[in-house]
Formats: sequence, C-alpha cells, structure tokens
Amino acid sequence: MHSSQPGFHRVVAIDGPAASGKSSVARELARRLGLVYVNSGAIYRAITWHVLEKGIHTEDIDRIAEVLESATISCWVQDSESRILVDNFDPADHLRDDRVNESVSRVSRFPMVREIVTQKLREHARSDNLVVEGRDIGSVVFPDTPYKFYVDASPEVRLQRRAAQGERDEIALRDHADFSRSVSPLVIAEDAYVIDTSHLTIEKVVREILARLKEMGLRI
Ligand code: C5P
Repeated sequence: MHSSQPGFHRVVAIDGPAASGKSSVARELARRLGLVYVNSGAIYRAITWHVLEKGIHTEDIDRIAEVLESATISCWVQDSESRILVDNFDPADHLRDDRVNESVSRVSRFPMVREIVTQKLREHARSDNLVVEGRDIGSVVFPDTPYKFYVDASPEVRLQRRAAQGERDEIALRDHADFSRSVSPLVIAEDAYVIDTSHLTIEKVVREILARLKEMGLRI
C-alpha cells in the first residue's frame, strides 16, 4: 500500500480530454508496470448505454436515478484489465456506439452517476494496484495519489486521431461538456505532470511517464 493513500493500493492517474492518447498510454503503462488497467470512461459509457437501452431520456435524472438504483454494476479483472457488467451483461461491444458517444457527457454530469463511478473505482483500489485513466482521477477520485499525469494534445491532432479510428465522435462538444460541468469538471490537478502528446509516439509518452515515476521513487 502507498502510505499517502490510506486504505488504497497504488494508483497512477492519467487524466486528459477525449482522443488525447490516454487510453493507449495508460494500457501500455499498466502492462509494463504490472498493474491493472482501468478505463473509467468505460464505466460512464456502460451506464449511459444502460440508460439508453432502457429508453430513458438522458435529461430525465429521476428515471436515471430509478434505473441505476435497481441496476447491478460490477467491475472485475480479466487479463489485467478492468471489465464491467451491468445486470450481468457485458456491454463492451456497445460502448463506442454513436449514440453512446453522443450521450455520455450528458449522463456523466449528474452527481449521482459520478458518485457511483467514484465508489466503484475506490473499491477497486482497495484490492489492486491500478493505472486509471479518466477526467477527474487525480483531482477528485484519488486526490492523494502522488502519481498524477495529464495527457493533452492539440484539438486538430485529437480530431485526426478520432477520424483515423473511424469513429463519429463530436469531441469538441464532449470537451465543452466535460470542462464546464459543475461537478468534477475536467481540470489539470495542481500537482499533475502535464505531457503534450501532439507530436509524440505512444512509446515516447510511456517512457516519459516511466522516467518520472522512477524519479518519484515508484518501484518499477
Ligand atoms: O474516456 P472517454 O472518452 O471514453 O470518456 C467518455 C466520457 O465519460 C467523457 O467524455 C466524460 O464525459 C466521461 N468521463 C468522466 N469522468 C471520467 C471519465 C470519463 O466524466 N473520469
């Protein structure tokens, strides 16, 4: 356990906006460090998918609350990666559907949704060492971890990356919603180490983070 995070194992937090490269970086970093990789955006996406499947309007917080109170959301680990089940169904194949891309930032702005995800992530860190990527991991979910990184890239580069993945994803709209919401907006945590990945390969970013972690005394 890391003494500066009582009750939690080690957490490396990787925050940043959509298509900044954080998923590829976080997954590779977890692999090299032998830690469990957790994509917190996938939990927000799974909740959004569930709300849409139930035919609920994404502004209808009362119905969203009702359906989430009766849903069982569980996280488990397979091949060192966190997986999500909603009412015993694995929605992995649906998490990047256009309709989920369009709605996820609206659903994830509700405090009750954020509370559910935050609790799941903290539960996870009670049993495993983690690399967690997201928007509020260093600022809100694990503010006491010393290992915080903010991965960014220019809007042009991020758009190109999404287009290359063949996805329709209005990242400017998601950015706006994620930066401006009142609860846990996307911010750069004061003590985060910031990396602009616009002109860097994943390998270079991973190496930079590993070097920084080594400097900080994380045993690798
Ligand atoms: O990381 P990804 O782009 O898959 O995240 C999808 C959405 O989930 C984000 O646009 C944001 O609205 C929400 N999210 C969040 N907080 C996190 C991770 C994701 O609000 N920690």
